Formats: sequence, C-alpha cells, structure tokens
Amino acid sequence: MTSPAPSANPLLAKWATPDEVPPFAHIEPEHFREAYDRALAEHTGEIAAITANPAAPSFDNTIVALECAGRLLARIGDAFHLLAGAHSNDTLLEIEREISPRMARHWNKINTDARLYGRVDALTRGIDALGLDAEGRRVLERYHTGFRRAGAGLDEAAKTRLAAITERLASLGTAFSQNVLADEQGFALTLHDEAELAGLPPFMREAMKSEAQERKLSGHVVTLSRSSAEPFLQFSERRDLREKVFRAFAMRGDNGGATDNKAIIAEMVRLRAERARLLGFADFAHYRLDDAMAKTPQAVRGLLDTVWARARRQALADRDAMQKLAQDDGGNFKLAPWDWRYYAEKLRQHTCDFDEATIKPYLNLDHMIEAMFYTAQRLFGLTFAQRSDVPVWHPDVRVWQVSGRDGQAVGLFFGDYFGRPSKRSGAWMTSLRDQEKLAGDVRPLIVNVCNFVKAPDGEPTLLSFDDARTLFHEFGHGLHGLLSKVTYRKISGTSVATDFVELPSQLYEHWLEQPEVLRRFARHYATGAPMPEDLLQRLIAARNFDMGFATVEYVASAIVDLDFHSLADDGGDIDADAFEKTALTRIGMPEEIVMRHRSPHFGHVFSGGGYAAAYYSYMWSEVLDADAFAAFEEAGDIFDAATAKRLHDTIYSAGGSQDPAEAYKAFRGRLPSADALFRKRGFTEPAPAN
Ligand SMILES: [Zn+2]
Repeated sequence: MTSPAPSANPLLAKWATPDEVPPFAHIEPEHFREAYDRALAEHTGEIAAITANPAAPSFDNTIVALECAGRLLARIGDAFHLLAGAHSNDTLLEIEREISPRMARHWNKINTDARLYGRVDALTRGIDALGLDAEGRRVLERYHTGFRRAGAGLDEAAKTRLAAITERLASLGTAFSQNVLADEQGFALTLHDEAELAGLPPFMREAMKSEAQERKLSGHVVTLSRSSAEPFLQFSERRDLREKVFRAFAMRGDNGGATDNKAIIAEMVRLRAERARLLGFADFAHYRLDDAMAKTPQAVRGLLDTVWARARRQALADRDAMQKLAQDDGGNFKLAPWDWRYYAEKLRQHTCDFDEATIKPYLNLDHMIEAMFYTAQRLFGLTFAQRSDVPVWHPDVRVWQVSGRDGQAVGLFFGDYFGRPSKRSGAWMTSLRDQEKLAGDVRPLIVNVCNFVKAPDGEPTLLSFDDARTLFHEFGHGLHGLLSKVTYRKISGTSVATDFVELPSQLYEHWLEQPEVLRRFARHYATGAPMPEDLLQRLIAARNFDMGFATVEYVASAIVDLDFHSLADDGGDIDADAFEKTALTRIGMPEEIVMRHRSPHFGHVFSGGGYAAAYYSYMWSEVLDADAFAAFEEAGDIFDAATAKRLHDTIYSAGGSQDPAEAYKAFRGRLPSADALFRKRGFTEPAPAN
C-alpha cells in the first residue's frame, strides 16, 4: 500500500464545501496519519519562528502569533475527534492510540518551552504598558497561567521530574481503569427461574436476557455496569440477591490480587502532591483549585459542608420512612445499603405515582428539539432553519443554519442524536470550528452527540424525561459555543473553568421543566393532545424524589476526593480503604448509604486526572444554575428580556473573556448563594445546629 499523494488528501486541501465544513464523504481514516504529520510539523515550525524572533516580545509577535499558529492542527484535530467519538472504526481507534501520546508530548514541549515562557512572562510583567483592551489582557493572563501551571518557569531538574510524574500518572490512570473494567467483566449473576426474577419489570428482563446471550450464557444476567446493577437493586424482591450484587458493585477495584486499585491510589495521590509542591503549592487541591472559580479548598469545603448537613438530615428522615415501610411489609431487619433503592422505589410509587411508559408518548424527539429552539428564540432571538446541502458524517445527522435577531448568520448546529455501534456511549457537545475574529469573522460549527434509541422507520422517536433533559443540557453547551463573540480562540465558547463550564448547560435544563414549555411541546405523538395537567404536575414534583440520598452519595464522594488531594507528599503510603473510612466517619456518613463512587473505582478522579480535586464541580455549577434561573423567577417571567440580554452578554457570548466570578457578578449583581440550590433540591429546612 502506498500512501496517497498530498494533493489527494482532502484533509490538506482547501475545503470548498458550504461553510467550509469538512468534506466527510471524501475523508478516509488513513488520510489522518499524513495530515497529522504535516500539521504537527507546521505547528512546530510556527512555534520555532516565534521563539527565534530577534525582535523584543510584543503582544503581536508573541500572543497573536501563538493564536494564529496551529490552525491546521486544530482543523484536523476537530474533524478527527468528532469521528473518533461519533462514528469510529478500528483504523480510527488505532490512529487515536498512536496520536494521543504524540499530542501530549507535542503540547508538553510547547507549554514548558523556556524561551516561549520568557517572552510571555516579560509581556505579563509589563502588561500595563501594552495598551491592551480587557480581552487582550485576559488572553495574555491565560497564556501566562497555562505556562506557569505546566512548569515552564522551573529549572531543568524540576521539569524533568515533572515530565516523569506526568508519564507515570498516565500509566497508573490507564491501569486503574483497566482494573475496574476487569472486575466488572469478571462478574455475572445468572438468574434462571421466576423465583430469582421476582419483581423485575419486563424491560429489565429483556435487557438481562440479551446480556446473557451476548455472554453465551442461558437465562438472565445481572452485570456490574451501573445501568444493570442499579435497576436490579431498585426492583428485585430477593434481598439475598440484592446483597450479592450490591457487595460486588461496591467492591470493584477493592478485591485484593492483580486488579486491586488501592496501591495505585496511594501512588497517584503521592505523585500529584509532589507535582503540586514542585509548582509551589501546599497540596494538589490548592494547585487544582487555584485556576478554578472556587479558588481555594476552603471555599469548596464551605459549600460541600452546608449541602451535606441538609442532605444528610433529609436522607435520615427518608431512611426512617423506609424502615417503617419495610416493617409494615413484614420485614424484620434493619435497613441495609442493598435495601435503599428497593424501598425508595416503593416509596416513590406511593408518593409520585407514575411510570416512564405514561410519560414517553408525550416526549417526541422532534417536538423536544422544537422546544429547545423555541426557548433559544425567546431568550436570545435565534432562529433555526434545517439545511440539506452541508456535508455530514452519517445520514442520521441533521444540520441547522442558526441566525440571530438581525437575520445574520451565527453558525451551524449539527444534531447527531441516535445511538449506533460506531458511537461512544454518553452525550456530549463538541465543535468542528470555534468562533474567533483574528482570522476574519469565523463562525462556529457546533455539534451535539447523543445516544437515544432510534425508533423503527416511519415512527417517531420517543424520549424519557432524562433523555429530554440531556437534549437540553447538551444544547445549553451548544449555545455557549454558538453565541460566543470573542476575538481569540484561547477563550472562545466553552474554554472556561471546569467548575463554570456546566453553568450554561445545567441552566438550560430549567426551561424544559417549566409548565409553560411542557404545555406547549409535550404533546402526544399520535393524537397531538397536550400532556394531562395532573401528569405534568406529578412529573415536575417527582424531580426531587429521594434527593437526600442522591445528594449524600454525591457529596460524600466529593469530600473524599478533596481529602485525598489535601495530603502533602511526605505523608508516606496511605491505605485507601482506611483513609476513606476515616473521612466518612468524620462527616457522619449514614450506614445505609455508600459513596456514589468508592475510591477503588472512582474513575473521575483516578482514571485520568479530569476531576481530581474537582468532583465538586457539578454541585458548584448547580449553585450557579439554580441561582441564575432564580433571576428569571424574580423578574416574574421565565423569558424576561432584560435578564436574558444580561445572560447573553455576560455568560453565553463571553467565553472565558472574564474571570468566572466577575462574569457571574456582572450577570447577577452579586455572587450566588446556595439558597436556590436548596430550593431546587427540596431542602427547605434550615441546617441543624450541630
Ligand atoms: Zn455538561
């Protein structure tokens, strides 16, 4: 096989497609190898030209030059990541395994380049004399922070040690997730007769049967994936089997032997602490949070402790109600962790009284897309027109032209909604091009990817309420990308702090839950009748069901994460189990609840570094989204024009052009309080005094 001539590689040619969308029909996986080689070399050359420039550093010859460098790499990377996630194959996955370490080395080299850092550092020290506007100042600061946090200012010995730590952490993270996977794959509980299947609804039995077939087993199989184990704990009437599944689920990565993760945790925690110390921080949590909206571990603990007190109180009250239910049922035992979901389900049937099957006919995917577009039109004046002339990577993908109030083009929005074998699980927002102004008026190409189950041909796809929430959530991220109006790529769209980035998405979910929106768009797919009002009210009321439990299992995980990363690196070897136990005893963890992710399988924190010392981010963002939505409620109109304009100007269009706390203050006039979060989660009582 010979590789194609450069001119034949569509990734390296100019894209003469509508809106310069990648020409998907002509791209073959093999094209990426050559394209990456070229793009990496080009970027390296561009960086070398900046560092070799004999002229004194200026904003133009350093920061603007850095912004303009690597455009080919970004263009190819965006197309590659989209395909690797949404429509992959063996060749793309193989290229991904080759490319990710190469990219890591490429960026590490740039981010720790002493000469480059020297120029940026000199500019930063003389920033006041540069005559920059607010956005320019912010971009310079972001570059400086990035270099500093990567260790560009350290001596060679420290840099070498940091590089070794980074590499070791990467292999430990991979080993951690493979161990969890091995424990999950090593377990299958096979059920054969009706007595063992007691209580399980038809949809579960079907899924368990196909799971058995996939594993070439007979009967029905329970696995340790969350989507199998949790419903089993919720519905199975067999207390003994619930205990069996629960114990295996809670002990993933904690079984001794080759797949045990406790030693890996100890080493990772120690290495992260050492990394933080080399960079001048007391511990990893201080390092991580220094560049977040929260800023300090104290601020995070303040929030988590307040939420904890209220959630724990609610959970203990729910536990007592369930204990009574169990006794009334003839159960002569003390409620155990494997009983919680089962009795919560019974309690839910008592209090909320509806099931998924009643709701689904009213949640037609097409109507829910209309609902999210309608909301964007009412809030931000956007209109959406479907286009059929734009290249797509799969026939199921839909494209809309997005226009602003004045009729001007905003960008393109791609919706790729259905699950298929070539797609990763989950839902996410990504882009094929980010908004910026340095290379002219560059309009964004924004993508939402979901995994809804596609209806047979000719039938409408019906969603669960959780699916509809996911649709709105990802579209909220999408709007953050679409509405972006900044000059520099560095701070475009969703390029904001981890504990701020979920604000636009989680906030958008609020509009789905408004009666005003549901009455208009939740219509029966066949008859067109609106959802009955009492069903609508029960659906909204059900949102807070068992919220004490959900909050306790989440906050416990966030606190333990923070505790691990508050250790100094001279602490010696820790025993992860004992450490976890001490932390939970300190906060008074109810015996009937376990952490949502126990440490030996806490992938957010130990698989990669993504959420290390940052698992709190979801709740931090929720404080923001609850408080932000309250601004509309206070205005008396969920589409209040003045509030919507402020939201647009300070959050959705601003990217990372401001410090997140300043951006929020510009929107709300103050920092958020957690009161709106407590109302949203149904924790109305004041926290107990002790
Ligand atoms: Zn999100």
